[in-house]
Amino acid sequence: MNKTMTILSAALIVSGMGHMCHTASARSTYDQKFADYPTYNGDDLELSVDATGTHFRLWSPKAEEVVLNLYDTGLNGSPYETIPMTFHKENGTWTASVKGQLYGKFYTFKVKQYGKWLAETPGVWAKAVGANGKRGAIIDFSKTNPEGWSQDKGPKVDNFSDVIVYEMHHRDFSMSPTSGIANKGKFLALTEHGTTSPEGEKTGIDHLKELGVTHVHILPSYDYNSVDETNLQDNTYNWGYDPQNYNAPEGSYSTNPSDPGTRVREMKEMVKALHDAGIGVIMDVVYNHTAENDGSNFELTAPGYYHRHWDDGRYSDASGCGNETASDLQQMRDYIINSVKYWANEYHIDGFRFDLMAIHDTETMNQVAAELKKINPSIFVYGEGWTAGDSPLPAEQRALKENVAKMTDIAVFSDDIRDAVKGHYSNAEDRGFATGKPGNEETVKIGIVAATAHPQVNYSKGNNSKFPYAASPEMIVNYVSCHDDLTLTDKLRKSMPDATDEERMAAAKLAQTIVFTSQGTPFMFAGEEIFRDKKGVHNSYKSPDSINAIDWSLKAANRDQMDYYKGLIALRKEHPAFRMTSADQIAKHLVFDKIDSEKTPNLISYTLKDNANGDSWKEIKVIFNGSDQPREVKLPKGTWQAAVKDGKIDPNAGLGTLSGNVTVSPRSALIVKR
Ligand code: CA
Repeated sequence: MNKTMTILSAALIVSGMGHMCHTASARSTYDQKFADYPTYNGDDLELSVDATGTHFRLWSPKAEEVVLNLYDTGLNGSPYETIPMTFHKENGTWTASVKGQLYGKFYTFKVKQYGKWLAETPGVWAKAVGANGKRGAIIDFSKTNPEGWSQDKGPKVDNFSDVIVYEMHHRDFSMSPTSGIANKGKFLALTEHGTTSPEGEKTGIDHLKELGVTHVHILPSYDYNSVDETNLQDNTYNWGYDPQNYNAPEGSYSTNPSDPGTRVREMKEMVKALHDAGIGVIMDVVYNHTAENDGSNFELTAPGYYHRHWDDGRYSDASGCGNETASDLQQMRDYIINSVKYWANEYHIDGFRFDLMAIHDTETMNQVAAELKKINPSIFVYGEGWTAGDSPLPAEQRALKENVAKMTDIAVFSDDIRDAVKGHYSNAEDRGFATGKPGNEETVKIGIVAATAHPQVNYSKGNNSKFPYAASPEMIVNYVSCHDDLTLTDKLRKSMPDATDEERMAAAKLAQTIVFTSQGTPFMFAGEEIFRDKKGVHNSYKSPDSINAIDWSLKAANRDQMDYYKGLIALRKEHPAFRMTSADQIAKHLVFDKIDSEKTPNLISYTLKDNANGDSWKEIKVIFNGSDQPREVKLPKGTWQAAVKDGKIDPNAGLGTLSGNVTVSPRSALIVKR
């Protein structure tokens, strides 16, 4: 599960920009005993196969005995061989080697500690697994590569503000019969071209190309716990925030979860198809907690080490899901870093979205970004800069939104713009700037300048944040909705109960216009471009497909909405003024018009001047009217060409010329240029 709770207070604010150079240390008295464990960072952890045989290595410094079980099958049956492993005190690992290349076989480890044998585990580094992830699988990875894989590459990214993120779930995207996709709910769904809705509108990967997003962010695709992979006909749905094996793909998204190579190959085929379409692939990673506590692979290999605890030894629970992991301990820190490196190298992943990132420490996140940059400078790393509960990790070490300036090449979600534009995330009826609630103007402006210091933004009036926490727009991801909480459509239905859907669609256009023209990186939730809803369910993490699947017939029905989103994306791509790369640039080129929000609420107007960021347009005037009344605005002297007006958009500014006093229609944006 995923939480959106924002834990913040002024006390968390730490001045100074330098990286913290603390050494990893445990924080509770209980956890201090783990700090001096010997660590091991070799790339042969778990399993390696070479000409001399098949080699196993498990890190478990305090184990009294460890055995390796070898199996013919991924589930059921007894081991055909059980081998005692040998301890290496200097690095805390246990090893065993077997003659021959055991491709096709499966394995588990069993650890004895405190005089007790723990349950079998595939270890923490299983890169291929049998059904339901209970046993590691020995496969030849060179045989899992699709044709042309060695030349496969994601899109090159010069600045992270050029990225346009589309957040999706495999089942949401393809399960509906209206998708016209054959491999419903599978990795392979994204490899199918030429699919259409019953009305003949493009679906699947062709829809993504039509829309123009640069990256898809796919909800957890590593092996998670909640879906029974041996019983797929039940069509169990889950978001996947319940990690089981961090380094193997989820089986239920493959066409055959019992064949370990299939899930690997099909995930790669998905990545390749998206890359061939010019689209990057971002993985949602959830290293912050495990699905199970004592039953997790972490606990079954090195009891106590990988999770944090309070002084009395209880699991601490900053995830709100029963436990939290300990990135500030060296072996766990290395684990996270090596795991993302593995996905980047083996699967060509283009970005990572860290769930509840503030459970991790800033030093770990800095190392994550630095290591990924060495592999591919285009890799985009961002996360939720909050936790869902208190943690023993001191606040100044947490990778919080408020600490983002202490991190390099890491971005955080802006809950400022999210809640200010559409209303509070957890109060369904609450309205925001785009739906006529006054008092959110300054917080929307914080979003527009990507939470950087700006001479005209008064952070003391911010609803959530009280200081410019971002040192650069590349540290901010702007959004109004995601998989969490109500979809934008449902939010608008609940907060505008007396309005028509037409009026709500106008509000949705305005909300997304604010996001897509703001500095920082825009992020949207799949299906909002066709006014997709989830029948009012706000936490649909295990709701059936009938709630979660996108109905692609909405595309023809709401074609105007789709065209508007497409236009917004094209406008952003063509105009670097909306994608400035430094705080100084924004402070210099983005000028707000003085509007008395007490007298004229829900109106924001600003200019992007002097060919901002090398834009071909000399001056761009952006006006947002979130009220249900038309507003008169006086344009500066001269003739202006309209790019956005009355719910229509033309990235080439062909919507007519304007000058002098103009009327901005209710709940709409007016964007003009000269
Ligand atoms: Ca699974």
